[in-house]
Amino acid sequence: MCDCIKQIEEEIKINFPESAPALKVSKVKEVKFENLYWDLEDNCRMGVSMPIRVDYERKTKKGNVISKHEILNMQPKYCPFCGKPYKEE
Ligand SMILES: [Zn+2]
Repeated sequence: MCDCIKQIEEEIKINFPESAPALKVSKVKEVKFENLYWDLEDNCRMGVSMPIRVDYERKTKKGNVISKHEILNMQPKYCPFCGKPYKEE
């Protein structure tokens, strides 16, 4: 299993002040992916999920059509950064 997530978070922590000079960052306190998940069936492996938005219509009891949406979190089978499979086959 790769450690791309930790590596990327560390690299951004180090390089962010230089890559965004207009922000005048004096110290990066923390860098964390917001879409992390832990696969409990795979030794609590950490991965990044890909949120996907589904817009849909639903009829109310009165027969009106209302627009709704749901965010589903897709879990990739491969690391999106290095391409290694998350689960050994
Ligand atoms: Zn990787």
